[in-house]
Amino acid sequence: MTLILCGHSYKYELESVLKLFIPATRFSFVYDGEDYSHVSGDRVITEKREDTNTVVFCVCCYIGIKSETETQKLDLKDVPSDGGEFILSKLLFKVMSRLTGISPEWGVITGVRPVKRVNEMLDSGYSESDIKSRLINDFFVAENKADIAIKTANGQRKILKSVKADSFSMYISIPFCPTRCSYCSFVSQSVGKALNQTDEYIKNLLSEIEYTAGIVKRLGLLLDTVYIGGGTPTVLSAYQLKSVMTRITECFDTSLVREFTVEAGRADTITKDKLTAIKECGANRVSINPQTLNDSVLKAIGRDHTVKDFYSSFYLAREAGFDVINTDLIAGLPTDTLQSFEKTVDETLKLSPENITVHTLSVKRASDININAQLGVLNNPAGKMVEYATSALSQRGYSPYYLYRQKNMVENLENIGWEKGGTQSLYNIFIMEESQTVIALGAGASTKLVDLKGKRLERVFNYKYAVDYNKNFDLMLKKKDEIERFYLNA
Ligand code: SF4
Repeated sequence: MTLILCGHSYKYELESVLKLFIPATRFSFVYDGEDYSHVSGDRVITEKREDTNTVVFCVCCYIGIKSETETQKLDLKDVPSDGGEFILSKLLFKVMSRLTGISPEWGVITGVRPVKRVNEMLDSGYSESDIKSRLINDFFVAENKADIAIKTANGQRKILKSVKADSFSMYISIPFCPTRCSYCSFVSQSVGKALNQTDEYIKNLLSEIEYTAGIVKRLGLLLDTVYIGGGTPTVLSAYQLKSVMTRITECFDTSLVREFTVEAGRADTITKDKLTAIKECGANRVSINPQTLNDSVLKAIGRDHTVKDFYSSFYLAREAGFDVINTDLIAGLPTDTLQSFEKTVDETLKLSPENITVHTLSVKRASDININAQLGVLNNPAGKMVEYATSALSQRGYSPYYLYRQKNMVENLENIGWEKGGTQSLYNIFIMEESQTVIALGAGASTKLVDLKGKRLERVFNYKYAVDYNKNFDLMLKKKDEIERFYLNA
């Protein structure tokens, strides 16, 4: 498929819209000013043509022997501030819907954070019914998705309003896992391969914690939430976990910390000693993730534990007395079926975890699964699975509290965090809604600096892989000075 751009340069957005209809496809591009008369085969011509008083937007798509066209003409003075990028996206969406017979449920919202858009509209004074009709009519969002986005935003309002301008959250990355799951495209390395990296990694991480604490103290920032994620943090020993968590409490003022999460994750790494250490060091929230309660699916995705192991870990976490346990499930895993997914949801509900996060499989180029996906192995009804989870969780008193999308999600679906009893994870809301600075430490982590008053947002990236993080640690540490520069320039 060739995407031809005439009179504009909206490549990224238009490519994102095309991918809603034809995922896992490599596109060729013809840029503005280049000759495209030689291009044949499947192609989309997207054009913005200006004359003295008017602008014409036109999308013409040819797939096989079929073709469709959409055009819109505007007075020059009526062209929106984005130059018409959104208009072309909508025309492309309409043309592709007709040609493929597909109507992606999130409409032309291709970004990661549909709820952020709803929050912005609520902040601008739109009523819920106005927002719903804008989502449906302007963005072509399906009614059920508009409803859940609005419900999620409503569940976040009080928490978003509680954010203080001088507060921040901290993310600590432990980028190691016992083995690599087949759907993973994360930077995580299996410890088998990276064993020689972990000791040095922890040593450096402790220094980064100390260095960052100095910056935070000078700036007078207040630590609000902590999230230790991965990878699989519990791949570390109880001693290593303790040393990381103790360094945090020694270096930072944790007296105002409202939430401290450790993503225990995989049952093949969880022991009583580790959970006790995590609890004693101040964590009040853990994730124990089955992904599926079907042993054959666990095997198919390369996780080295059984359903029984998950249950043992979950009960250990309950005994340890954490306030909140989250369990992650994934809809659309290879070899899973609707019936088996429904059973996973039902059995998870019996455990009554405070949080349940229902992910949809995201197929990424870097993951082993990608090849299989293209061969059609993933031919399971992810949409129906998500529908089932939404209805079962709602009926059992859970509410959606954060929602995000990733690229190449099966059926263009979404991930939704559910909670009951007012146990929303603050960190998950802040990171998704970009409503608080998140200072991130460790390999693969990225700091997000948010200035609520000045409406500025900047990112600072750490080295992606543990090996580079260790090798260039001094340089890496210097990147932390960007935090000071950001706040001092406010
Ligand atoms: S546990 Fe998570 S980070 Fe680790 S390999 Fe599996 S999907 Fe990737």
